[in-house]
Amino acid sequence: MSEEKKDWEVRKDALFLEKKNGYDLLDEAALAEMESYCEGYKAFLDAAKTEREAVDEAIAQARAQGFVPYERGMALKAGDKVYRSNRGKSLMLAVIGQAPLSEGVQIGAAHIDSPRLDLKPYPLYEDGDFALLKTHYYGGIRKYQWLSIPLELHGVVIRKDGTTVQVRIGGEPGDPVLAIPDLLPHLAGQQSQKPLGTAVDPENLNLFVGSRPFPGSEGGDRVKLAVLDLLNRKYGITEEDFLSAELSAVPAYTACDVGLDRSMIGGYGQDDRVCAYAALKGLFDAEKRNKTAVCILADKEEIGSDGVSGMQSQAFDTFIADLCEGQGVSLRECLEHSFCLSADVTACYDPNFASVYDKRNSSLINRGVGLCKYTGSRGKAGASDASAEVMGYIRGVLDQAGVLWHVAELGKVDVGGGGTVAVYMANRNIDTVDAGVSVLGMHAPFEVTGKLDCYMSYRSMKAVFEQ
Ligand code: MN
Ligand code: MN
Repeated sequence: MSEEKKDWEVRKDALFLEKKNGYDLLDEAALAEMESYCEGYKAFLDAAKTEREAVDEAIAQARAQGFVPYERGMALKAGDKVYRSNRGKSLMLAVIGQAPLSEGVQIGAAHIDSPRLDLKPYPLYEDGDFALLKTHYYGGIRKYQWLSIPLELHGVVIRKDGTTVQVRIGGEPGDPVLAIPDLLPHLAGQQSQKPLGTAVDPENLNLFVGSRPFPGSEGGDRVKLAVLDLLNRKYGITEEDFLSAELSAVPAYTACDVGLDRSMIGGYGQDDRVCAYAALKGLFDAEKRNKTAVCILADKEEIGSDGVSGMQSQAFDTFIADLCEGQGVSLRECLEHSFCLSADVTACYDPNFASVYDKRNSSLINRGVGLCKYTGSRGKAGASDASAEVMGYIRGVLDQAGVLWHVAELGKVDVGGGGTVAVYMANRNIDTVDAGVSVLGMHAPFEVTGKLDCYMSYRSMKAVFEQ
């Protein structure tokens, strides 16, 4: 009799919401699938350190799954898989469903750009017998985090004749790396008195790229000449070619397991490639699809989603309109019946910095994918604020698919804030809600996520695409 629950215990079980740690809920088979998924994810992180590399890698994986480039006017039937690259910097993929496009599409939207140090148009100079490259930071970085870490140079140079040179310095065994050495503590007395946000002058984020003069040369700029000579021999470029280039310094290390129990993943660019990979794999693996599934991997989120490859670009509407035309459906009818999971990361509760979180409403590690009803800052400024109806809909979808999820806010009210592409999808008259993986050290060169949350983000995208 003592094992029988008392009345109040039965009522408590029925009424209270208990946020369980996902490790108490997953069986061995699910845990094995999680590990295998995370191995693929880490490989994706290593292959895709810029938006261009993410597009290339996603296309390679999509082609292996039977996706073909979409041509305007193409006749499509249920089950067909197509993609359109937007200038190599953003990617849209679709799997045509049974239902007509007038019933809307199921969208997964993530971004593939991450904070980094871009080279300035006139980057190369010599000072103190070093050759250096000047940078202009991209996205919301904490500048001190980019000092004294190994960096690689990734990107493209477009020559005057229109030919493209792919640059990837670092990443291969034996490759050199670049660095911006920090100030030694012995001479940092004055700098250490400054506020953290201003202690590092962004004009001093200059990459050391060489120190050896061109053999036998005389006069000034002998190291600069030697570096340009190296670049010319390897890539066929001259100093002028920097003017039509996109070259970015990104962290030189590969993704790895974190923790003695290997329960976490550490690496660069997890915001938001953790959700981009989840959306991509979810699209590949979805079964029983009724509606057309669309995945968009957007560029420029970290600087406001403007521009031709950002989520505000008409490129997305053009792609959906093209699909709609094939079925004689209007774009506006399709969009008003569509649903979008805006897949972006949120902040994970960090006990080292507990004061900035409302623990009751924060994302805790291993609770699964984190839904965010709203983002923004202050009084929800800049948020699309998903309706209660949309929250109710997604609860049902995720529960039915057995996905572990929770609801989270970024941090305490008025402490800060952030945005995602959600508002730009909602502005298109698409019901949208944010959902993603919670991250420790977001925007740092080394971000940390929980494997269980990464896996559940994938499962949530798959569930959305299976509607
Ligand atoms: Mn993001
Ligand atoms: Mn971000």
